[in-house]
Amino acid sequence: MIINTEGIVLRQRKIANNRRMIVLFTKQYGKLSAGTSVNEKSRSKAALALRPFTYAEYDIFKGREAYSINSAQVNKSFYSIGEDIDRFMNASAFIEYLDKVLEDGVPAPRMFDLSLEFLQSVSECRTGTDTLLYAFIVKTLRMLGVAPELSCCVNCGKAPEKFGAGYKMFSVSGGGIICPECAAEEKREPDSLIYRPDFDIIDMLRYFDSKPLKTFEKVDLKPVVRDKVREILYEYTDRYLGVDVLNSTRGLEVT
Ligand SMILES: [Zn+2]
Repeated sequence: MIINTEGIVLRQRKIANNRRMIVLFTKQYGKLSAGTSVNEKSRSKAALALRPFTYAEYDIFKGREAYSINSAQVNKSFYSIGEDIDRFMNASAFIEYLDKVLEDGVPAPRMFDLSLEFLQSVSECRTGTDTLLYAFIVKTLRMLGVAPELSCCVNCGKAPEKFGAGYKMFSVSGGGIICPECAAEEKREPDSLIYRPDFDIIDMLRYFDSKPLKTFEKVDLKPVVRDKVREILYEYTDRYLGVDVLNSTRGLEVT
């Protein structure tokens, strides 16, 4: 059976007989691995579609045990990502994140559409691309069923208006915002991890969640805020999704 689907290349590796195994994030079928004998270095249309940061259309033969790419055609190449170290680092972290959170064969069409928006925005972004990556990750938390609780204390349900001024704490261990009383209690637990940032963490996370991704092409956070957001998101995604992609590019400074 031949299936036709849009997709993004997540990674590839050499396998036997001069073939490659390509891991694709496809719109219709989710993540899948497919073999191909197309040589990536050739100048054919199909070869271009196997390069990183490319959105393409694939004809895939579905055998009894494996997929095999028959042909492919580029829809859009976001080649400018490879020309800038900041774009490249964050787009690579994005690819690694997708590869880790997506399950084989489980379609995630909303995440696919958001991923295309991300590639488009990163390739057009004129400032640093960190905030685009953070916004992408925050938006996917809901899709992955691990959105943090932001409307009330994750432990007792108290509304944040009653927390007291300046007491907007975020509990990574609890999975959302936490009131001062519950925070004092939770701090006694050995694996507790609670942040009390200098900025409004509720507003910040809602902002990332609610605005279109494109908004963040122009948003540059202050370094101290950006680093704290990164740290909280790193700890959160590490704990709930088992991914550590934000750690690998932590502290990257590009002027
Ligand atoms: Zn509470």
